[in-house]
Amino acid sequence: MTEERVRQGGLGVWAPSKVPPIGVDLSDEQKMAVAFRHLADVGFAENMAGHITWQPDDRSDMFVNPWGLWWQELTASDICVVDENARVVSGRWDVTPAIHLHTELHRQRPDARVVIHNHPYYVSLIAALGMLPELVHQTGALFLDDMYLVPEYDGEIDAPWRANELAGQVGWANLVILANHGVIATGSNLAQAVYRAVSIERVCRLAYDVLVTGRTPSRMNRGDMVGMQASLIERAADVYWAGAARMTIKADRGVLE
Ligand SMILES: [Zn+2]
Repeated sequence: MTEERVRQGGLGVWAPSKVPPIGVDLSDEQKMAVAFRHLADVGFAENMAGHITWQPDDRSDMFVNPWGLWWQELTASDICVVDENARVVSGRWDVTPAIHLHTELHRQRPDARVVIHNHPYYVSLIAALGMLPELVHQTGALFLDDMYLVPEYDGEIDAPWRANELAGQVGWANLVILANHGVIATGSNLAQAVYRAVSIERVCRLAYDVLVTGRTPSRMNRGDMVGMQASLIERAADVYWAGAARMTIKADRGVLE
């Protein structure tokens, strides 16, 4: 057996000299609102279900969406702040008890500054089969050795102890599929978490479509996937985010209010 060649990727191989900017300075709440709108636009959100939390560096409190508003309609002034125990610190709305899933993940995973959870359709389909998606396309390299399956549905995660148990299972994976439920995507910043969230829905859709052909997919070389993973995280995530923000703001500037 020959040893597999690992390809380098990411900014060490190529870094752009300039990248298209968002074009406007955004407050943290505006960035959150843009993330909700964009993820709703691409079909990631099941109407008002799910949450995004962002715990900025060196802070214990976190931004979150309020309970009851759809991701598609959120604006910057709707964003609430909760403390590390999920108590609402500021905001004009209430926050779901399911937020404990996020507060406990933030507690156990200091690297995960942003946690995104919802039930996008194709992730839900794969989750209904109680499996992780097979990585059959280069975008799937984003999730190489970085996915975890919670195999049993355990009802609503509405108490700290339930969330704590779940967060303990997840380990260091940035992408978690919850059987019969949905997905959790994490990132060290908003751009990375959003990019993972958007990508996993497409990865699951492709994995499902490949599955139903009944044919064996062509295999990717693992060593090449390692390099691709670095490129997707280090190079693509920020540029993706800037484009998503530009288009979201262009579609409705009211998102910033
Ligand atoms: Zn859920």
